[in-house]
Amino acid sequence: MPKTGSENEIIYEGIPASPGIAIAPVHVIARGFSAPEIYEIKEEDVEREQLRFKQALEITKRQLIELQSRLEDLSGDNESGIFEAHVMILEDRSVVERVLQAIPRRLQNAEYAYYAVMQNFLEAMRRIPDPYLRERTADIEDVAQRVLRNFTTEGDVRIMGPEDQHVLVAYDLAPSDAASMNRRHVLGFATEQGSVNSHTAILARAFGIPAVVGLDGAVIDIIALTPSILDGYTGKLILFPSPETLERYRNLTLAKERVRSSLDAMSGAATETTDGRALKVSANIEIVDELPPVKRSGAKGIGLYRTEFLLLNGEEMPDEKRQAEVYSKVATEMAPHTVIIRTLDAGGDKLPVEPLTDPEPNPFLGWRGIRVSLARPAMFREQIRAVLRASAYGKVAIMFPMISGLSEVWRSKDMVRRCMDELESEGVPFDRSLPIGIMIEVPAAAICADLLAPEVDFFSIGTNDLIQYTVAADRVNPHVADLYRPTHPAVIRLIKRTIDAGRDNGIWTGICGEMAGDIRLTPLLLGMGVEELSVGPQQVPRVGQAIRSLSHAECAAMSDEALRCSRSQGILDLSLELAHRHYAELLD
Ligand code: PEP
Ligand code: MG
Repeated sequence: MPKTGSENEIIYEGIPASPGIAIAPVHVIARGFSAPEIYEIKEEDVEREQLRFKQALEITKRQLIELQSRLEDLSGDNESGIFEAHVMILEDRSVVERVLQAIPRRLQNAEYAYYAVMQNFLEAMRRIPDPYLRERTADIEDVAQRVLRNFTTEGDVRIMGPEDQHVLVAYDLAPSDAASMNRRHVLGFATEQGSVNSHTAILARAFGIPAVVGLDGAVIDIIALTPSILDGYTGKLILFPSPETLERYRNLTLAKERVRSSLDAMSGAATETTDGRALKVSANIEIVDELPPVKRSGAKGIGLYRTEFLLLNGEEMPDEKRQAEVYSKVATEMAPHTVIIRTLDAGGDKLPVEPLTDPEPNPFLGWRGIRVSLARPAMFREQIRAVLRASAYGKVAIMFPMISGLSEVWRSKDMVRRCMDELESEGVPFDRSLPIGIMIEVPAAAICADLLAPEVDFFSIGTNDLIQYTVAADRVNPHVADLYRPTHPAVIRLIKRTIDAGRDNGIWTGICGEMAGDIRLTPLLLGMGVEELSVGPQQVPRVGQAIRSLSHAECAAMSDEALRCSRSQGILDLSLELAHRHYAELLD
């Protein structure tokens, strides 16, 4: 339920998913069918709009009757019943009345009023746990779409379309929506679904788009064009902000910009603690478009390149040649720094690499990551060859996701060896000493890190998955977001165990999950002995500055205490205390 703030403010509270402030009118998009154009009307235009609505209904009815009679001619009475039902949906009195009332109430054009009423109606139906009713939504969507096509537009109207700056409110957004968002127009977004660790949120942070998730009821309740402030720091969407609130947020934006530019000035500085311990800060990327912000951030390499984002927009995995071009570009641009290319981690909440015959009951426990690559050797081989080709253009390492045991490591390394032999015999240049690492993101791998370490050159801990599998809480399910705790004692023990096993076997351990970019936890991770933090490009300067403000010895003593602590909050408080003491100004 939204709260009422000062004056007419309405405040929705959700979960902050990407920091930043956006001030703009909201644009609401529903599930199922696309939103029509929207514009404001004057009081004197109300009747004209109501008439346009009635005309659209008339035209639609004529079309449906015509379709019905055509179908009767073709197939007899039975099938044509569908269109009879459509006419009934079309003429539903309560819908018609609501639209006629919504036009003067909203003072918005008829098609948008109709869309908003139908969208609310459909959302309400989708939330009823009755499969029969839910199936009927397809018929209603069909009718609604047809009505929307039958509106006639005339005159000169001011339309809010995707070219206007706005805060997007949606039921849910896929990672591909976030990647293809026009950032000049979408200043921020808020969704009912989603979570901080979904790939949509990760992309929002990478691009610096403020975002809030878990805003219950937003799509049904919020009226498009309402002025708003999206606060990605505290997870609020404020509608009809008062002049004082607007002023406060404008000042906050300025203050954040000042911190940002002082951090940018430090971007080239070494990331070393006050007592001389160096820690590498690198960046995570999903798509090549992120390279300019990565280079500006001062990142000392790419610690995680999520290659599954090559599947965005429903495309197939590009062939070896195309992949080699993309990877080589990243390697060349980042040289002399290392680029860690992670092989395909399709599945889970990301796009599948191929359509599945049956939907998986538990996608996160199913066919994803290295499991898919090992089951599709031809595709795996193409990707490894492409990575090897790119290694001739800069410093490249390869990393395998979702490793759960030794045999997956052996089989993957075997494929690398075979690809190296092939390229050698073909005379294609590549780096024979290319480092091979694995993600530690399945508890089995963390527990057996001592067995895995002798087989690889580095570990990178994927805390997003490690947390979800350790505490059995889906990383994208808002209902269990409360259980998803990065400082759960079980999680930090697994991290510590992994770092120790790596060190004992002479290999380095980094962290590339979202936890690495949370500067409240930098003292804890540093104290436990991690050697690299790979974070979203926007977080690089902050994490770097946090490291420069801390003493390793102090963090190590604190993390020893944290490892003896029995409660997640207690562990967080210990780390937060050092963070506050040394860089309060950086904390949001
Ligand atoms: C992780 O699980 O922490 C990770 C970095 O991988 P991804 O978020 O792509 O699953
Ligand atoms: Mg992962």
